[in-house]
Parts: sequence; structure tokens; C-alpha cells
Amino acid sequence: MKTLTVSVVTPDGPVIENNYDMVSCKTESGELGILPGHIPLVAPLTISGVRLKSENSADIIAVNGGFVEVRPEKVTILAQSAELPSDIDIERAQKAKERAERRVNSGASDIDLMRAELALQRAINRIDVKEKA
Ligand code: ATP
Repeated sequence: MKTLTVSVVTPDGPVIENNYDMVSCKTESGELGILPGHIPLVAPLTISGVRLKSENSADIIAVNGGFVEVRPEKVTILAQSAELPSDIDIERAQKAKERAERRVNSGASDIDLMRAELALQRAINRIDVKEKA
């Protein structure tokens, strides 16, 4: 059976490169399920968990936005940051979440509010991915 070679790459280097049967990710226009042979496309991702499934294993990766590029036999995800559950420091994410919540509730200016909301989404996503693993 055909598989997909999946690479997740960040500015710090590759996070994963492996073969899977299916990739599920959240693009800005909705959920995308990718099987081998999918039509080529490029789409922006939300701050979310990317699920990778093969016959014997399932992985999930917390991605901080970025893009997914789909080719029939390859899926490449480029993101500013991406972590496997084993690399997620839950205490750090909880502290980041509390910090961001305080900023969101502090009546900050528009730019600071947007930054705090994105930091909050990253922290919630990391906690969520760690819990789902
Ligand atoms: P923090 O405020 O805790 O730094 P952040 O969301 O601002 O969180 P990013 O700018 O998204 O952090 O990421 C900076 C680097 O730190 C990246 O390499 C990312 O993978 C890593 N990182 C951030 N938070 C965590 C975490 N909770 N566990 C493991 N690595 C993390």
C-alpha cells in the first residue's frame, strides 16, 4: 500500500520525517484529511494539532501555524514552531497560558492584545496536544 512521506520542519530544524497512511490537519479554511495520491495544494494552517496515522502508530504534533504543502506522495509542514507531545513542557505551557490570559484581560492595546491572544492559542494548543497523546 502507498504511504505518505511526512516532513515537519521549523527554523530550528526538522521535527519529524516518517511514512504515514493519513494526515489530518486544520487549515484556515477547515479540516483537511490527506491520503496518498491527494491532489497537490498549499494551505495555511491554524495553531492546532496535526494528526499522523499509520497502521501501527498514531502521532500528533502541536504546530504554530505555518503552511502545509501536499503532493501525491509527500506532505511537508513548515511552521514557526512544532512539538511532539514528548517535547512539550506542560508547566511552561501552563505558565505561558496564565501570562497570556492576564494580558488579554488587562485591557492592552490592539497590537498587544493580538500578540497575547496568539500566545494564548499556542499555550492552549500545546496543553491540548499533550493531553491527547
Ligand atoms: P513561551 O512564552 O513559553 O516561550 P511561546 O508560545 O512564546 O512560549 P514560541 O515562540 O512559540 O513560544 O516558541 C519558541 C521555542 O520554544 C520553539 O522552539 C518552541 O518549540 C519552544 N516551546 C515553546 N513553548 C514550549 C513548551 N511548552 N514546551 C516545549 N517547547 C516549547
